[in-house]
Amino acid sequence: MTYVINEACIDVKDGVCADVCPVDCIYEGGRMFYIQPEECVNCALCVYVCPVEAIYPDDQLPAGSAAFQAVNAEFFGPEVTGWGAPGGVDGVHRTALDHPKVADWPG
Ligand code: SF4
Ligand code: SF4
Repeated sequence: MTYVINEACIDVKDGVCADVCPVDCIYEGGRMFYIQPEECVNCALCVYVCPVEAIYPDDQLPAGSAAFQAVNAEFFGPEVTGWGAPGGVDGVHRTALDHPKVADWPG
């Protein structure tokens, strides 16, 4: 299980969730933030601070957002950043890149 950020974050991206995450597993991309699924400890703190209700447990995603479980995971894979599980946000692991589904999302 992990928490997942969905399309509601796109172009909002205020970073409040990343500020409260105790393990720094919410990483900044170009148009949204992404949760590293292996690093998330499922504390749910991020859910309560998000102003647009963009964060859900992976088994409770709204039907229209089901693809975002893969979007969050694949952001860390070889086809986007190749970061894997960096062990927490730092000065190196931030990027203007996005998952292709997010990059192509209507703005
Ligand atoms: S559920 Fe907790 S550990 Fe997971 S991303 Fe949110 S704040 Fe971080
Ligand atoms: S708090 Fe919500 S809108 Fe803000 S960056 Fe996190 S997921 Fe996106």
